[in-house]
Amino acid sequence: MLKADMWRTSGHYACYGENMYLTTIDEQEYGVKPMNCIGHIQIFKQTGKSYRDLPLKYYEYGVVHRHEKSGALHGLLRVREFTQDDAHIFCTPEQIASEVIDVVEFVDSVMKLFGFEYTMEVATKPEKAIGEDVVWELATNGLKKALDENNLPYKIDEGGGAFYGPKIDVKITDALGRKWQCGTIQVDFNLPERFGVEYVAEDNSRRQPVMIHRAILGSFERFIAILTEHYAGEFPLFLAPTQVIFVPISETHSKYAHELKNELMDINIDCEIFDKNDSLNKRVRNAEKQRVPYVVIVGEEEVANRTVAIRDRRTKEQYNLSFDEFVVKLKQQLNEGKI
Ligand SMILES: [Zn+2]
Repeated sequence: MLKADMWRTSGHYACYGENMYLTTIDEQEYGVKPMNCIGHIQIFKQTGKSYRDLPLKYYEYGVVHRHEKSGALHGLLRVREFTQDDAHIFCTPEQIASEVIDVVEFVDSVMKLFGFEYTMEVATKPEKAIGEDVVWELATNGLKKALDENNLPYKIDEGGGAFYGPKIDVKITDALGRKWQCGTIQVDFNLPERFGVEYVAEDNSRRQPVMIHRAILGSFERFIAILTEHYAGEFPLFLAPTQVIFVPISETHSKYAHELKNELMDINIDCEIFDKNDSLNKRVRNAEKQRVPYVVIVGEEEVANRTVAIRDRRTKEQYNLSFDEFVVKLKQQLNEGKI
């Protein structure tokens, strides 16, 4: 929560006020942050900075509140309180290109990890804009250069930039072919100027840094919603909240199931045991309904041979492995990031 004057300086009060939660305490008006940028600017300004400090990067799981109309709320996709994977990079104009390349590579590695196809759009100077043309050109070319050097195709969204600078929008395509705007990389000359952000240059002059706003996933809530729909609830092994469910055939096999569970938990594989009350069939069915990657049945034979009977509902296969082989298989799958 910041004093309302901060939001006046930033332009949020005038341009974004109706989406903000404002309150007055002891005659002082405050606003709950709808974005994290201003907080990072205050951190930057805490101490004097020189060109040697740049690029300077701040990151946070930034919790923000936006007063969306109740009719616009939609599951996890549009909520009033959410957490952004938000970073701000303070740099010189000359550093824009290399910083953007780093972020683009990061976006690429994250999207590949989750198995998403994505496209990028470079949004250029809109009609109403602040800043000199030469700086806009430098920033826009920095964004394009970063994508060209990574052989990433992109479209141009002519005039679609923010009034304070151009941006790259990352749009992911889910399993149903729907496109979702998630990550964004924005080059901003506006906020540093409004807040008088400065650094001391090599020639001792005071200069204004550029601020790059970047989010890779966008909002965690929204990204989790998209992931859940994309995988229809069948998360890849590395993402699944429960990765293995053990189903002992009868109570006498529970001890063995607990032993195996503990061994897997020791190597950070999350497991559960379905050994309560219901019939075997019902427990197996319930385990499968959880859509976990592996359901493992253990009975007389498995206890005797230290093996596991695996039901892989994704490949519809059933097979036996020694427990050690199963561990190797899980580790391999996690290392390869294989889905
Ligand atoms: Zn920002």
